[in-house]
Amino acid sequence: MQNIKNNNEQDPKERINNFNEVALGYTPEQAVSEAERCLGCRDASCIQGCPVEIDIPKFIAEVKKENFSKAYQILKEKNNLPAVCGRVCPQETQCEKFCILAKKGNPIAIGSLERFVADWAISHGALEKSEQKFKELERDSAEQSAASSPRFAGEAGPKETQYARRNTKKIAVIGSGPAGLTAAADLSRMGYQVTIFESLHAAGGVLRYGIPEFRLPKRIVDIEIGYIKKIGVNIEVNMVIGKVKTIDELRVDGFKAFFVATGAGLPYFLGIAGENLNGVYSANEFLTRVNLMNAYRFPDYDTPVNIGRKVAVIGAGNVALDSARVSRRLGADEVTIVYRRSEAEMPARLEEIRHAGEEGIKFELLTDPVEISGNESGWVRVMKCLRNRLGEPDSSGRRRPVAIPNSEFDFNCDLVIVAIGQGPNPLLLSTIPALKLNSRGNIEANSDGRTSVPDIFAGGDIVTGAATVIEAMGLGKRAARAIHKYLNNAKR
Ligand code: FAD
Ligand code: SF4
Repeated sequence: MQNIKNNNEQDPKERINNFNEVALGYTPEQAVSEAERCLGCRDASCIQGCPVEIDIPKFIAEVKKENFSKAYQILKEKNNLPAVCGRVCPQETQCEKFCILAKKGNPIAIGSLERFVADWAISHGALEKSEQKFKELERDSAEQSAASSPRFAGEAGPKETQYARRNTKKIAVIGSGPAGLTAAADLSRMGYQVTIFESLHAAGGVLRYGIPEFRLPKRIVDIEIGYIKKIGVNIEVNMVIGKVKTIDELRVDGFKAFFVATGAGLPYFLGIAGENLNGVYSANEFLTRVNLMNAYRFPDYDTPVNIGRKVAVIGAGNVALDSARVSRRLGADEVTIVYRRSEAEMPARLEEIRHAGEEGIKFELLTDPVEISGNESGWVRVMKCLRNRLGEPDSSGRRRPVAIPNSEFDFNCDLVIVAIGQGPNPLLLSTIPALKLNSRGNIEANSDGRTSVPDIFAGGDIVTGAATVIEAMGLGKRAARAIHKYLNNAKR
């Protein structure tokens, strides 16, 4: 039996005119039918592919029985953001790649099932029930500890599902993306007083300012963050740590440990002539204007965004594809992804590439821009490009692009969006000289998030460089355990 692909989608002709969600999710019947294909393997290989270690066969077994509420509880034991992950995780390279049925080319659609269960929970009030359970367990724990000798939660190694009595130790999490949110939620469940400091005016990191509404509705981000707040995490926005307050000042304020999860928000540029012309954006600025500042609703909102008739987006990762699809929705006549390698090396999720193709995005592959020229008013007019062929694989394992001599050609465009990657923002890091960085400026940390400074832990893109939501969450989870261990061993 073939897996049930999530074909409930908005028609491409309609969706290029709106920002509503493209993928609409399984119906209950489809979810149960897909769950019935799962073999419930004893040593389930799919779990190995999940950085937050969800018990995948267990939650799918509950979907089979139509016990969606129980399935949700199982998901939530390990994953603080299931409605987000069910939408944006590249499952084809993670859990689904490891599913035993993938060997026959037909893995269980784990991501679609995760999304179905999380959406079902949201629409059936299961989030409120989880919160209620948290409060009951917290109260029971407080009563128990009042009756017995004082005990710090989980000294023998707490399960994340065990809730602990509140204690007075304060932990600061810097950055509210998936890494910070995950670590904060897990630490709060362990009983700590956790504050997230976020530099922007709203929490969520890339989930809010990067990934567009049609892939990840802000309503979903708000609901998941709302739950994290309800279980006790305090979030302070407009707090640029390193500027408004330093780590040293936070130490004076009583914070005993820090989790730095400031992401990779500094855009890379091509370093070619003409990048300072009007009409050249970094993808970061372009998407932030649209997603965070609501530029797509200008003039109802204050922030405008320029949109050309012919848009060139440089790069082929998720960021590039999101920029291209946003441009299309904002009314560009022609949008082209310009990428230096071939389709096989494109880093974006397969679903995004398919969706972009359906929406009429063009692909100019094996092509490298070498210069951008403008008109007399300083606006982009044309991009000079070179053709490439593929050479030997480079350190990333992907075949290296090699320029073909004398292959120059002109590509006419009036907007260029550069989406070739992002690096760490040095603002906070420059205020902590003892923190060891690698040659790319990322924090050096071990797999548990330990850094060269004992009370500072780090995880997510600030450590790995630009990666994925679930990898950031996995690091947040491991760092939460390591912080707990550190605070219990520390003589303070
Ligand atoms: P971020 O999400 O970047 O969050 C860091 C937060 O820290 C930000 O809110 C930032 O404002 C804040 N911050 C920075 N400096 C400070 C400071 N000094 N003080 C206080 N706060 C600070 N991954 C996927 O798995 N699937 C996808 O489909 C996908 N699509 C993407 C699309 C786009 C447009 C982008 C940009 C990325 C995408 N990614 C995707 C990658 C994924 O979003 C990131 O890997 C992930 O968000 C990293 O999480 P993080 O918590 O490390 O950092
Ligand atoms: Fe089900 Fe595939 Fe995991 Fe086996 S490996 S339990 S079939 S999802």
